[in-house]
Amino acid sequence: MAVIDNKPRIVMCSQCPLEYLHLLISSLNDQGATSVLLGCDDDVFGLEEVGAVVAIGPNIYLNKAKLIANEVFIKSKLVLMPTSLATDSFLTNKYRRSQDDLLTASRSGRYPDAVIIPWSIIQRAPSRANLAGTGEAMAICPAMNDLLTSFCEGVPYSVLYGVADLITWTLTRLKFGGSIDSMLPTIFALLVLKCLIMWAFDDCRWGAGSEHKIAYALGEYRKSPLLHGEACAFGTWLMCSLFFRKMLGPQCLTQLREILECTRLPLTCKAVGIDRRSLPALLRRAKKYRPRRRCYLDLLSDDTFAQLDYYGL
Ligand SMILES: [Zn+2]
Repeated sequence: MAVIDNKPRIVMCSQCPLEYLHLLISSLNDQGATSVLLGCDDDVFGLEEVGAVVAIGPNIYLNKAKLIANEVFIKSKLVLMPTSLATDSFLTNKYRRSQDDLLTASRSGRYPDAVIIPWSIIQRAPSRANLAGTGEAMAICPAMNDLLTSFCEGVPYSVLYGVADLITWTLTRLKFGGSIDSMLPTIFALLVLKCLIMWAFDDCRWGAGSEHKIAYALGEYRKSPLLHGEACAFGTWLMCSLFFRKMLGPQCLTQLREILECTRLPLTCKAVGIDRRSLPALLRRAKKYRPRRRCYLDLLSDDTFAQLDYYGL
């Protein structure tokens, strides 16, 4: 950690090239911030209030900044600047105390005061990370169907179906394919759409349902090397092809498959490195994750999981 002068006003959680940090710092200074604290470790917990908590980097840094802004410097501004599109963390109010703690629900805090999208940095991120963002964004398909199957207390059905229509309308009109660079704006737009819906309803269940439970179960099941968005993509395809086929309709399901294939996301057991015969056990484990957040899997028994036709997965 480096303190630029002895009155730090900004806490910076960062992993990005120094040239960009200097650029950002000088622009923040132009905004009237008199000093900047670089780096982020437990030292910040002893500081007095700062003007802004700024994070530049992947999810782990954004999460750290959210934790600090929500629990330490509660009056300071929260500024998030993702360096890849791997997750939706840059636009949500969710954060965790510990990066490994997947069993307990993430906490709800403040939304960021500002989000900066540095395209030149994002374009240089590993393609795999950027493409994984599609899996995170597509989670909205099973999540919305979890809500439509009766776990949507307080939201009128007309509104639910209106949003569901917006999502399927958007999906079926998307054009994926071509170079990775050309797909990035679409992946970004999908992440923003999902986050805006969660924001509008102040309910993250619009963006994280049964597919996230499967993603977490998959991670624990085999200490998965998959990225979060890749595991979500598999969970999304599993839920949509097994359970939500009718609700989505053939056109939307085909489009979903094409989008996930175009972005090289895993749709089969082989691609995620598990045996197809382990799918009933995976679904049983997924159901146990965060039991208070109900989803479609809660309507099904263990016997049903054992009897499903997993052909093609
Ligand atoms: Zn997620």
